Amino acid sequence: MRAARLAAQLRDLRTAARALPDALVLLDADGRVQWANPAAGRLLGITWPSDRGVCLADRFAHQELGTWLREGGDNADGVASPAAAGVRVQCAFIDYGDRRRLLVARDVSRLTRLERVRRDFVANVSHELRTPLTVIHGYLELLDPGDVPALAPVLVEMRTQSQRMRQIVEDLLTLSHLEAQHALPEERVAMDALLQTLRGEAEALSHGRHRVTVEDAAHVDLRGSAKDLHSAFSNLVTNAVRYTPDGGTIRIVWRRTPGGAEYTVTDTGYGIPAEHLSRLTERFYRVSSSRSRASGGTGLGLSIVKHVLDLHQATLRIESEPGKGSAFSCVFDAARLLVLGNP
Ligand code: ADP
Repeated sequence: MRAARLAAQLRDLRTAARALPDALVLLDADGRVQWANPAAGRLLGITWPSDRGVCLADRFAHQELGTWLREGGDNADGVASPAAAGVRVQCAFIDYGDRRRLLVARDVSRLTRLERVRRDFVANVSHELRTPLTVIHGYLELLDPGDVPALAPVLVEMRTQSQRMRQIVEDLLTLSHLEAQHALPEERVAMDALLQTLRGEAEALSHGRHRVTVEDAAHVDLRGSAKDLHSAFSNLVTNAVRYTPDGGTIRIVWRRTPGGAEYTVTDTGYGIPAEHLSRLTERFYRVSSSRSRASGGTGLGLSIVKHVLDLHQATLRIESEPGKGSAFSCVFDAARLLVLGNP
């Protein structure tokens, strides 16, 4: 009786799994197929019972899915389905029982298509706006407010706003470029030189209104995209200057940590209330729009920082206290560090 009940329950479970739109493949401890639902046939080309005992890694060795099976990693945009042309599947492994695994694959073609349309749209709009804005800005620069004193304040305001628009377009293009990037240039980024450049940028922006200190305690270089890392680090320095009242201090520190190294910019500025911290890296998110605009901000700086760090498998840590100041840290794994003197 009990065996019959268990068999009925098992049948029920399999019927439910068969009805799922997601592909399910049960694997034994050696990664061999034990069972698969019909969606696995459609999305992965794994059919049951004919593929019983097949080793997935061997079957897909030369396909995008094979690379994911070997190396794992992020596949938010999905990998090409080995069975259906034009279909992208997002895969995940779920461990269960004694070293057994379940492979789940979901059709994300529509989502990735929509995401691509969104990305292309933003990139195209930004690109199309760039030329007319450059022309308008150029003509505004040619007009001398002294020639038409009555319009002088208007001209100055027009220049400021056109510069702001140009900066927004440039930042959107930078973000589009970062989003489209999958592989990074693996350059040696000389940190001592970069820290000196950042100090120069901070001082130029501050015009002597703040004390700027730089400390290189790590004595290691980074491996990655020199241009993008410069842009991320520079954004944090710019923010520190912008959101710190005159007389404050900006500290730029590069130091080792137990797991790698971190680049931290600390300021003694306005600080950020805790409820905003988790949303700061969203596009156009600002704690105070008026303060951001007044200081020339676009609301895109920290999104750029987050994207650059993601590409380097690094994370952004933000600590802040209103009225006291903030510390923004870029935390890198040891795998991203290059010891000085070694190629
Ligand atoms: P923005 O161009 O407006 O500075 P960001 O993406 O760089 O845009 O930053 C988002 C928001 O985070 C800013 O508008 C500001 O409110 C807040 N912020 C960023 N850095 C600091 C800082 N060092 N101190 C205080 N607030 C900051």
